[in-house]
Amino acid sequence: MCGIFGIYNNAKAAELATLGLFAEQHRGQESCGMAVNDGISIKLRKKMGLVKDVFRINKLAQLQGNIAIGHVRYPTRGDSSEYNSQPHLVETLSGPSYTLTSNGDIVNYEELRKVLESKGVYFVSTNDGELILKYIVYQVEKKNKTILEAIKKMMKYVKGSYSSILATKNEMYIFRDPYGFRPLVFGELEQGETVAASESCALDILNPAWLKEVEPAEIIIVNEKGRTSYRNDPNQLRNSANCRHCIFEHIYFSRPDSFIFGENVYAVRQNIGKKLAESCNLEADLVVPVPDSSNFIALGYARAKGIPYEMGLIRNHYVGRTFIKPEQTIRDESVRQKFNPLPNFFLNKRIILIDDSIVRGTTLKKLVKLIKKAGASEVHLLIGSPPVKHSCYYGIDTPTRTELIANNKNIAEIRQFIGADSLRYLTIDELSSTVKEPDEYCYACFNGKYPVTR
Ligand code: SF4
Repeated sequence: MCGIFGIYNNAKAAELATLGLFAEQHRGQESCGMAVNDGISIKLRKKMGLVKDVFRINKLAQLQGNIAIGHVRYPTRGDSSEYNSQPHLVETLSGPSYTLTSNGDIVNYEELRKVLESKGVYFVSTNDGELILKYIVYQVEKKNKTILEAIKKMMKYVKGSYSSILATKNEMYIFRDPYGFRPLVFGELEQGETVAASESCALDILNPAWLKEVEPAEIIIVNEKGRTSYRNDPNQLRNSANCRHCIFEHIYFSRPDSFIFGENVYAVRQNIGKKLAESCNLEADLVVPVPDSSNFIALGYARAKGIPYEMGLIRNHYVGRTFIKPEQTIRDESVRQKFNPLPNFFLNKRIILIDDSIVRGTTLKKLVKLIKKAGASEVHLLIGSPPVKHSCYYGIDTPTRTELIANNKNIAEIRQFIGADSLRYLTIDELSSTVKEPDEYCYACFNGKYPVTR
């Protein structure tokens, strides 16, 4: 998962992009980068680390220009390294420069890379964003296509998920794959500047006059003439009549204050909690979320059941999100540092602990142990999603199937492994009933039905 940001025609483009990327830090914490265009050249800065460290005031002074695009990354394709971080930049000998930032993953990456390499295109990374950029640049520079034509062609042959922003010295292109896997929103600031980001929360901070989601397969060109939208027919570009938004964006990834796929994230999370409550007759004293992504799920459950909702676990926000650390060793050490139970809180209490999902189960095992050690008489675990049995190939770093606990154990065995008194998951039907357009979502990590394959 990654976060992207773009701004066109603002003298403080780098500063505003930094604010936007900071608001999207939850989407990736391994590296970040920004490309800023002053009309003559494109300056690029990308480093391992957090936005607040990479884009300090003194560094921003070197990134003057009116167009900026940026990225926060956690690795899916390509290892965690600076050369795999984004934006990617191509500077041609003939003059034009192109830079691109993208959120997603390409399923036919290997095959397309080989084709491009056989035509003399070289790669400096193993990241899918570079493939998208090089594909487009090849079509423009070698096949004399316009950038719009090149993006349209790319949409036909590059399969997978991509919410992307491409910038040249005087234009910005905002586009999204035909399935609309990852969120992408754009809008306008008070002076008419166009802004775009993965999530609406990253634009809210800039007080936009209005915001709108980029449609699947839409390409928006922003230049001195204004903004022009080209709508491909997505049905010509995909196997299904519907788009396939990632349901996990609602369950876990996106910020609750974002509006994605036509819905408020916090409202969907509350629906998930209500749905869990419908078929659950547990007696308990308190409902406690695993913060932060489960807060609204637990709130929805607690309200539906009339059981007190309490923030019994305190999260240290400086540790980061456990799920998006690339190494298991780092993840294991983070758990105990990350959560601490309130003192004298759990003693002799029957607890309903709510989490959004179980991937490996190691974090929850430790948390249940922690809560029991703090005196809870019972810990019942409710999960706001179905068992994760399949890996994601569309931009989420789920582990390989063999590492997924639900792929190796049944629910009774998972309960036993985690040490909870009971365990209940949401079913796929229950989950799909929590969104307005259930047929427009991808559920592949639960049911293995992948919408796009090589
Ligand atoms: S496989 Fe799962 S995580 Fe990946 S896009 Fe589909 S729903 Fe989202």
